[in-house]
Amino acid sequence: MVSAKDIAAAVRDPEMPMLTLDDLGVLRDVRESSAGTVEVTITPTYSGCPAMATIRDDLTRSLQEHGYQVQINTQLVPAWSSDWITANGRRKLREYGYSVPGPAPVRRLGPVPLTLIAAPRRIHCPRCGSDATQLVSEFGATLCKAQYRCLKCLEPFDHVKEI
Ligand SMILES: [Zn+2]
Repeated sequence: MVSAKDIAAAVRDPEMPMLTLDDLGVLRDVRESSAGTVEVTITPTYSGCPAMATIRDDLTRSLQEHGYQVQINTQLVPAWSSDWITANGRRKLREYGYSVPGPAPVRRLGPVPLTLIAAPRRIHCPRCGSDATQLVSEFGATLCKAQYRCLKCLEPFDHVKEI
């Protein structure tokens, strides 16, 4: 018998499908009540991330297929941080040719302004390891990735942003 927590943890991120919600650190709580109802609490990676609607639908469908009634709650505080991506998640990102996020910027208490400005980063090419890399675009295929190019092997690659 697969637990509701295992089912929810195995749901994949639509933007980076090699990562499960567990790898991403998006899943905050999965609570099974006796009546076959599951309450899932998630924290979105970015406010306004369009993938969150898909994640909610996928979570609901996966759990319903196993006979659960589903309620999904969104928890915005504390805000998700790229530091929550697990070691396993980082390994998978590297395997798929992504540059993994460094330590997230330190947060101040109180309201957190969402700034998606280009912070200077020292990025290594995930293919050849060279640090001679160049930012091509602060917004790659999705908001959470920046696009870089390696000046040594000339390969383009995505960097998952620190947040
Ligand atoms: Zn390279």
